[in-house]
Amino acid sequence: MREGLSVDEAQKAVLKMTQRLAAETISTSEAAGRILAESIESGRRQPPQDCSAMDGYAVRRADLLEASADSPISVPIVFEVAAGAKAKRSLEAGEAARIFTGAPLPTGADAIIRQEDTRSDAGRVEILVAPLAREHVRDAGEDFGIGDQLIASGTLLGAPHLGALASVGRSVVSVHQRPTVAILSGGNELVEPDRSADPDKIVSSNSYTIAAQCREAGAMPMYLGIAEDTPTSIEAKLHAGQRADVIVSSAGVSVGDHDHVRGVLEKMGCRLHFWGVKMKPGFPLVFGVIESTGTLVFGLPGNPVSASVTFEEFVRPVLRKMLGHRALYRPVVRARLTEKMTKKAGRLHFVRVILETRDGEYHATPVENQSSGVLTSLVRGHGLAVFRAECEGLDVGAEVDVQILDPAFFDQNERGF
Ligand code: AMP
Ligand code: MG
Repeated sequence: MREGLSVDEAQKAVLKMTQRLAAETISTSEAAGRILAESIESGRRQPPQDCSAMDGYAVRRADLLEASADSPISVPIVFEVAAGAKAKRSLEAGEAARIFTGAPLPTGADAIIRQEDTRSDAGRVEILVAPLAREHVRDAGEDFGIGDQLIASGTLLGAPHLGALASVGRSVVSVHQRPTVAILSGGNELVEPDRSADPDKIVSSNSYTIAAQCREAGAMPMYLGIAEDTPTSIEAKLHAGQRADVIVSSAGVSVGDHDHVRGVLEKMGCRLHFWGVKMKPGFPLVFGVIESTGTLVFGLPGNPVSASVTFEEFVRPVLRKMLGHRALYRPVVRARLTEKMTKKAGRLHFVRVILETRDGEYHATPVENQSSGVLTSLVRGHGLAVFRAECEGLDVGAEVDVQILDPAFFDQNERGF
């Protein structure tokens, strides 16, 4: 087992052990947010025939080159064609057909005159404009034709993709499976939120934070409960999680006498790949793989901020890779620090910051209390400023990378245009 990895090394190590999950077939209507596991080719044409884009009259352009408001040309209306119907016959020279939006263009016709550009009376229509070639005609197959590749495998499906799938007749679709994540909390001091009568106990918050982070990433959390600080209790709970794709346990991975998670994992046949990542918050992170099941196991530190930040940096990219995403990471913006920051060289600090936009630039202010036990620092901050491992000081105005965690950060109160 390796110890004391850099953030980069640890992230590479976890992603190296991660496989994209197999495909499953689901209803297209449920597929938003999933990653396509097949390539979608069209077996039909859209629109199926040339058709009208307007309510008006199908005409032969050559008849009407001289038409204008001052000298309208009058032609007989010889038949009508509505959406979903077929033209009775072809349009001959000197004729017009009444036509509605989406109706197929009769053979012989080569332009549509909008209703607004006509006057009609007793079976005849006066045309007030000269049409352009194929004006207001939607060409057959202008959206897609037979054999066109519409959506590439690996695409994140959104609303337009579901519409496109439906329009090629696909009510089911193949996507990558969603990982299941078994979540375990551990510690004799912990109680569930609704059992908090004893004021000296700590309410277990990590399971709530982590389950929400799993869902946000697209995974399916299963909560295993709180284990006591004994190897037997931890082992019993972890066994229950072995069928999940990933186990995320929090607490009990440090060097204290009551930290049993690592020992239990090894006993259960979990091959530990590393312990300790040179970062703050969150040094005592352990990662391993249960050899018999292939389940990836993350033992996160127990402090609420450490647990959440280590999940962000290591578990979230893993879950996204399993889901088939190509983009594994959160957006990052460059921001200017509004305060000086200092630290010792050695660990990368993820500093919870509040961002403001001024003069077209982002400005980052560290949340006052950066303790790894202060969960409200994550509630108040918009993201994590990266204070690199080797760096000891950053001045006011220095530029830093900020990883945006708050999904509402890019939403706007004003429309903005
Ligand atoms: P440990 O990693 O077991 O040393 O725990 C570090 C700190 O995190 C301790 O103060 C714990 O009480 C706290 N802690 C551990 N698990 C949780 C949890 N599920 N929810 C809230 N705090 C926790
Ligand atoms: Mg503990």
